[in-house]
Amino acid sequence: MSSKTTGESTVKDESSDETMISFTDVEKVYGTDPTEESVTALQGIDLDITQGEFVSVVGPSGCGKTTLLHLAAGILEPTDGSVKIAGVDVNGPHHERRELGLVFQHPVALQWRTVRKNILLPVQILKENGAIQEDMNFYRERVEDLIELVGLEGFGDAYPNELSGGMQQRVTIAQSLIYQPSVLLMDEPFGSLDAMTKDELNMELLRIWNETEKTILFITHDLDEAVFLSDRIVVLSTRPGRIVDDIEIDLPRPRNEDTRSRERFVELTAELHGHFMSQK
Ligand code: ADP
Ligand code: MG
Repeated sequence: MSSKTTGESTVKDESSDETMISFTDVEKVYGTDPTEESVTALQGIDLDITQGEFVSVVGPSGCGKTTLLHLAAGILEPTDGSVKIAGVDVNGPHHERRELGLVFQHPVALQWRTVRKNILLPVQILKENGAIQEDMNFYRERVEDLIELVGLEGFGDAYPNELSGGMQQRVTIAQSLIYQPSVLLMDEPFGSLDAMTKDELNMELLRIWNETEKTILFITHDLDEAVFLSDRIVVLSTRPGRIVDDIEIDLPRPRNEDTRSRERFVELTAELHGHFMSQK
């Protein structure tokens, strides 16, 4: 289960079977105050993601995908159950936030800072808060490596509004990687991009994943994108979101231009589409 040696490639056969992200019987209810109307967003979520795995979560709008990601990030606390990263409760005192990289749907680059300065921003914020005593030179060099990793060579001094949406999302990805997190949490990161840019960034993301050996939890409502990228796809029901399927994507890696034309790719996307046809 841990190896990515399916098919013609032999990439990363060293990864362990260690569980990196775990949800145990998680429930999330919004509006628990008696004066509010409560909404149960997620119910009975049991999900284990192995180190190095690429897992996508799909489901209809409003089913709790973002809630799930925010629970993994420790931005929200579960109403019931527990969420752990590398065995540590994400809401507990021993959780190391920097183990996580977050990427949201809309690029969050600050318009008045250059690409370089945007990528460095998380380090500067923590440093100015006195939370860390980092060697800024180390991080300045790391920014240069990240610019190369995400394909932004030559744009380090550009401002976000000089870049396309796809390039701005590259900046966000580089920013999320500044602390070399072992886990990347991505909430529909390419949802607002045109189809061609999305395909290009999907390829780039797989390359980065391959080079950096991260565990990725990826939210999308695009079923083709989920099949193209993932080792596994978790399907959520309509609200309250429950896991209704967990599909292993047994397509060979590396995935490439030919992946989408494989018979198996078409079968898997059809299987996924079937879930949403049967749900009202
Ligand atoms: P998705 O990302 O799958 O579209 P969300 O996780 O954003 O779904 O939301 C799941 C459900 O919880 C939705 O019905 C949404 O309206 C509700 N919800 C999300 N955030 C809040 C909140 N802060 N307060 C109350 N309800 C919320
Ligand atoms: Mg969402």
